[in-house]
Amino acid sequence: MIRHPLKLAGEMPHPQAAAQMPTEAPVLMDTFGRRHNNLRISVTDRCNLRCTYCMPEEVTFRDKRELLSFEEIAAFVEVAASLGVNKIRLTGGEPLMRKELHKLVRLLVAIPGIDDIGLTTNGLLLAQHAAALFDAGLRRLNVSLDTLDPTRFRALTRRDGLDQVLAGLAEAKRVGFAPIKVNAVAIRGFAEYDVVPLAHYCRDHGLELRFIEYMPIGAEPWERDKVFFAHEILELIRHNVGPVVPAPHDPSTPAQDYAYTDGRGIVGVIASVSQPFCHHCNRLRLTADGKLRNCLFALEETDVKVFLRAAVPNRAAIAAAVRASVWAKWEGHEINAATFIKPQRTMHAIGG
Ligand code: SAM
Ligand code: SF4
Repeated sequence: MIRHPLKLAGEMPHPQAAAQMPTEAPVLMDTFGRRHNNLRISVTDRCNLRCTYCMPEEVTFRDKRELLSFEEIAAFVEVAASLGVNKIRLTGGEPLMRKELHKLVRLLVAIPGIDDIGLTTNGLLLAQHAAALFDAGLRRLNVSLDTLDPTRFRALTRRDGLDQVLAGLAEAKRVGFAPIKVNAVAIRGFAEYDVVPLAHYCRDHGLELRFIEYMPIGAEPWERDKVFFAHEILELIRHNVGPVVPAPHDPSTPAQDYAYTDGRGIVGVIASVSQPFCHHCNRLRLTADGKLRNCLFALEETDVKVFLRAAVPNRAAIAAAVRASVWAKWEGHEINAATFIKPQRTMHAIGG
């Protein structure tokens, strides 16, 4: 059962509800007219941190044989690229836990149609791998860092490692990544203390800071009251760091960026809870174990590993599965509604 595959506005059927799913067009369109060109690929569910907002402390990871090989991921991306996907982000779990990730980057960079490859990492292993990733052709880098305080770092991640993350950022900068984005989850009770120091740090080090409102996709009980909202973040920035003005906005990206009026940097907010960006969503997700998800909060998945592991990989079946998954996408995630149902997988096993 797919919850609201064609979610209805009131009692009125969606205008495209009766439309036929396109089977030939070289683009991935859903029934709401959203074109999908952005694929997030999780390369592992393993992680060297245990962020409270993302995953449980005790967790059984998947057997490595269940994970897609680099060749299988590349085969999937070739099909996705033929359907109009041109942007890819590698994520996890912690993607740098996957050995020789730069080899996957090299395979993906060579796929015709793919013109943008990014990586989201917690940065712990970045100092060791930044140069190889850059040499392989990776240019877009997001490093997750919620606090510069070692005690709060431990409270949030259940591990130590702040110095390693900072070393990773420094090395990434040294090898040439630019811009480097720093992602911070905005949780009430933490963000109040961390927004301003993070903003100063990022301005001083030439990093682009982005806050993302805490979403109900981790293992801990979530309540709206636990979200530190985008407008509160901006208020702290304006009062304690400096005036900012909205930067031009690309509607296909969830972040609204703000430029400091003194010209020294940018800070962004992703208001996933207070201002959901579902109406412009262009994303698909491939989990490390080969399941396609048409929304971070999807309750249904499509197995594509079965086609990738067939004696002869079945490209037509993969393309059909991708089209059908996009076509079945619902209007939005309903985080703010009483009807919201949290997916069974937590963030680390989906791919953020
Ligand atoms: N391990 C890598 C990292 O932390 O960057 C990549 C995977 S992680 C799941 C991807 C992103 O999801 C991170 O920036 C993380 O902060 C974010 N994230 C995880 N749980 C979240 C939640 N409940 N709400 C908002 N963002 C979350
Ligand atoms: Fe690991 Fe990233 Fe999740 Fe933290 S947010 S537990 S680093 S996957």
